[in-house]
Amino acid sequence: MTAGDDHEATRKMQFLFQLRQKGVTDTRVLQAMEKVDRGAFVRGHFAGRAYEDMPLPISCGQTISQPSVVGLMTQALDVQPRDTVLEIGTGSGYQAAVLSQLARRVYTIDRHRSLTRAAEVLFTGMGLNNITVLTGDGSFGLPDQAPFDRILVTAAAEDPPGPLLAQLKPGGVMVVPVGQSDTVQSLIRVTRTEDGLDYDELLPVRFVPLVEGVAEE
Ligand code: SAH
Repeated sequence: MTAGDDHEATRKMQFLFQLRQKGVTDTRVLQAMEKVDRGAFVRGHFAGRAYEDMPLPISCGQTISQPSVVGLMTQALDVQPRDTVLEIGTGSGYQAAVLSQLARRVYTIDRHRSLTRAAEVLFTGMGLNNITVLTGDGSFGLPDQAPFDRILVTAAAEDPPGPLLAQLKPGGVMVVPVGQSDTVQSLIRVTRTEDGLDYDELLPVRFVPLVEGVAEE
């Protein structure tokens, strides 16, 4: 073992420790997050902080979420090995890569073509071939592939978007940050039951807003 390996092992342990400390306790989620190197998804100035528990800026004025929030959202989604998952807000691609370890197939959509392109290159390089990346307005979901077992929205909406609720299978779960402002938002879990929809409020969060339409770049 070299000094570099040692450093790497310590860093990994610290990363996992921070996740556990914030309440990410699901073994499968921790294993998925141990496998996916967050460092690969953060470029430039902030690359050295990729293993700290903080959100970081990525291109197009967007952010890669805080690792513990990725963990808590993934845990709340309760992904099963045979699930088809839809993610709205590809961003860096990190959350989709974590989901890809837990699900059969992941569809991820972003309104910025440059982000979806970059994410696709990363997924190919990592051999994550169960992820399909699309550019578009994710508020409308993906009617062609619907319904989904799980839907994760990683940008904040005023309310859970109707088309996404309509694309949730019976027994399906959607996790979405909702709020009227950029500063006060709650993470909500919606479960489709036989009688309708059940809502749970999980924790306060802060996400960039869900914006209408496809972006220019
Ligand atoms: N999940 C990402 C972080 C998401 S940041 C990660 O792991 O890095 C939120 C993302 O939502 C941004 O990239 C933004 O472009 C995207 N977004 C906002 N509104 C959208 C919409 N209507 N449709 C698709 N993507 C949207």
